[in-house]
Amino acid sequence: MRFSGWRVLKEGLTGNTGWRPQWRNPAPKAEYDVVIIGGGGHGLATAYYLAREHGITNVAVLEKGYLGGGNVGRNTTIVRANYYLPGNSEFYSHSLKLWEGLEQELNYNAMMSQRGIINLFHNDAQRDAAVRRGNAIINQGDDAELLGRDALRRLAPYLNFDNNRFPIMGGLMQRRAGTARHDAVAWGYARAADMRGVDLIQNCEVTGIDVAGGKVTGVQTTRGPIRAKKVALAAAGRSGQVAALAGLTLPIESHVLQAFVSEGLKPIVDHVITFAEGHLYISQSDKGGLVFGSYLDFYASYAARGNLPMAEHTMEACVAMMPALGKARLLRSWGGIMDMTPDGSPIIDHAPIDGLYLNCGWCYGGFKATPGSGSVYAHLIATDRPHGAATRFRLDRFRSGRGLMDEEGTGAQHNLH
Ligand SMILES: Cc1cc2nc3c(=O)[nH]c(=O)nc-3n(C[C@H](O)[C@H](O)[C@H](O)COP(=O)(O)OP(=O)(O)OC[C@H]3O[C@@H](n4cnc5c(N)ncnc54)[C@H](O)[C@@H]3O)c2cc1C
Repeated sequence: MRFSGWRVLKEGLTGNTGWRPQWRNPAPKAEYDVVIIGGGGHGLATAYYLAREHGITNVAVLEKGYLGGGNVGRNTTIVRANYYLPGNSEFYSHSLKLWEGLEQELNYNAMMSQRGIINLFHNDAQRDAAVRRGNAIINQGDDAELLGRDALRRLAPYLNFDNNRFPIMGGLMQRRAGTARHDAVAWGYARAADMRGVDLIQNCEVTGIDVAGGKVTGVQTTRGPIRAKKVALAAAGRSGQVAALAGLTLPIESHVLQAFVSEGLKPIVDHVITFAEGHLYISQSDKGGLVFGSYLDFYASYAARGNLPMAEHTMEACVAMMPALGKARLLRSWGGIMDMTPDGSPIIDHAPIDGLYLNCGWCYGGFKATPGSGSVYAHLIATDRPHGAATRFRLDRFRSGRGLMDEEGTGAQHNLH
């Protein structure tokens, strides 16, 4: 079933009786060419690109809950390609280009909104760093623009420019960055993968990974055993636990990150604004709610709920930069489990077991990575070679110390599952 303006009109005039379920609900088969563990954004995108780019359709995505119930439906929806370090820079550039054609490609409204992101700076040293980052982004082929104080004031007059501790000197802007509706991204990929024959199996937890003679042979699940030639992890915050099913210890530590939404307000925040000193990032949803987040809750946990001190810190940062928001009421908050690596950069690589593949360690940044991650992971699974945009996401960098991409990593208690 394709979506179009005509279709919406027709359904509107005929009582909306023609809409059909967006994907099938199949029982698991006994065997697949590829089994993907995790029906979040990355697992679903990987299944889609395996089918579309590589013609591999005998694929199952196994999800222990419901599709999109993990971090893909819990994030603050920011999409950008303004990374500085080689490795991440080319990867996120690849991903943003895929975002730009995604809705047409999937025939699905993911509410992609390239409203621009502005990273604030507050002193000369930070401005120098912003200039350096901006030049690196432009050299990568993406857009970056340095805004002085006056130019920024015209775009975002509500900011507290004369804040005593953090006076705002300007910002680094990327106009092609923005937001997308997170769960619609999962649904769009799910529907498109299903249409190409991928089995999406919900309420199916993987409880074991079968390995014989150093090679993966399948998985054990709450819906019975499934044989597979290849098994691909895409379990995000649960990566450490799922890898342990195959006897692996990953350099991953799981933490909670919270998100917050205010009551609906009239349009005020037109862009995504980040205030790095308070680690605050904020945007306004189409419904009017301000969507914002801050730091991790800095203790390892698998509980998808946050704590009050971090909520208080986030509100402080918000009001410090935007005092007018002091009167807004907070509507709700939630937490998601983040898979943090020591260097803050992801892993997309072979596992040290034949036929087993790893996609994890997305830290704060995995939503914007969704199309890029799906496309490069599918390439790795299909060809057994890394995609050109993801050659540095190797697992062995943590053992050898070579090729680390230091994006402010977290944690000294890896894989305490
Ligand atoms: C509050 C918050 C804000 C964020 N903000 C941003 C942002 O603005 N921009 C950005 O780029 N990123 C952001 N992120 C990060 C981003 O959401 C994640 O990095 C990304 O969604 C992770 O990939 P995923 O979508 O595949 O994960 P998930 O949606 O978590 O998918 C993993 C799936 O695996 C399933 N699973 C786990 N174990 C098993 C098992 N044993 N068997 C079967 N299934 C299993 C889980 O149920 C889950 O559905 C944020 C995250 C949080 C929590």
